[in-house]
Amino acid sequence: MSAFGKFGLRQVINASGKMTALGASAVHEEVAQAMSEAARDYVVIDELLVAAGREIAKATGAEDGCPTTGAAAGIAIATAAVIAGTNLSRIERLPRPVGGPDEIVLQKGHAVHFGASVTQMIALGGGTPVEVGHANHTEKAHFTDAVTERTAALLYIQSHHAVQKGVQSLETLREIASAKGIPLIVDAAAEEDLHKYIALGADLVCYSGGKALEGPTSGFICGRRDLIEACRAQYKGIGRAMKVGKENIVGLLTALTRYGSREDGGEEQKRRMELFLRQLDGIPGIKGGIVQDESGRSIFRAKLEIDLAAAGVDAKQLIRLLEAGNPAIYTRNHYSNIGIVFIDPRPLLPGQEQLIADRLRDIIVKGNRT
Ligand SMILES: *Cc1c(COP(=O)(O)O)cnc(C)c1O
Repeated sequence: MSAFGKFGLRQVINASGKMTALGASAVHEEVAQAMSEAARDYVVIDELLVAAGREIAKATGAEDGCPTTGAAAGIAIATAAVIAGTNLSRIERLPRPVGGPDEIVLQKGHAVHFGASVTQMIALGGGTPVEVGHANHTEKAHFTDAVTERTAALLYIQSHHAVQKGVQSLETLREIASAKGIPLIVDAAAEEDLHKYIALGADLVCYSGGKALEGPTSGFICGRRDLIEACRAQYKGIGRAMKVGKENIVGLLTALTRYGSREDGGEEQKRRMELFLRQLDGIPGIKGGIVQDESGRSIFRAKLEIDLAAAGVDAKQLIRLLEAGNPAIYTRNHYSNIGIVFIDPRPLLPGQEQLIADRLRDIIVKGNRT
């Protein structure tokens, strides 16, 4: 019986992506093995944090790195670091005001909810979020007007959750941050490119360990040496409530090493999804296609357009039925309001495409709708 079945939980077929709500990633055997060994042993944690920084630096091209429980903690800790530095009294006073700059400026289209809100993570680190511009339109002047002696950093969110049009680019924020002599923080939680944002001149970049990296529940911040030292120092303050365990740090580093030698899975994903679409032949009311990820990552998903008249169910009913079964099938549903359901091949285990096709046939052709 599976680890979760023991507790009376249903099996889950994850066709939605690296979703925190479904447990983010299933780690590779090599990662699980490394975590298991680390969990049964001891280490000087401060030394592990520094060694982890060296590995993160190698993987990202940054000067140094700091492990975290995730990208959300990364935002909070990076915020605390730019506000309190390595000053213990300031570190211990956060998230209450410490005096000095504490405003984190971001554009409104980036004040997103990823399962929790970006601005709350800023507040957790003692920052005051300052949202500039409008949801779908921000000018450079909105930023330059908002940056004052109260500004601690600029924050840029690189994500499919963020508004993609009418926003100011990372390059523009870099320019403003440099001119004003303040740090630029980037949240690249789910991004696949571990070098890009450092190379573009970001001072601190937050990643999730459980998303593109396929590591355990973890994350890291990489960036400028002095600021990363300040990030690590927050573990004597607000970071303590976001403590990352030795086994998760080792799992993260193992996943990072594996990630460096991975191949682009795009072609394989296309092939799998084409096979999957063929398995849907003869099911009425589903129009299939293959589309690339909306933020340009090398991810190819099957797109299913559901026609209510022919299928007898609309996309939202279909999603509800798929999720209610056992195994529970979770699809990617950002566009279900316009009748579209996506199948993400990355988290699917071998053979699960067939189970999804069977269940779709069951619901639509056999009318099994309970
Ligand atoms: C997932 C996500 C986060 C949070 O990452 P965790 O590793 O789950 O803490 C933060 N920002 C964005 C844009 C995300 O997509």
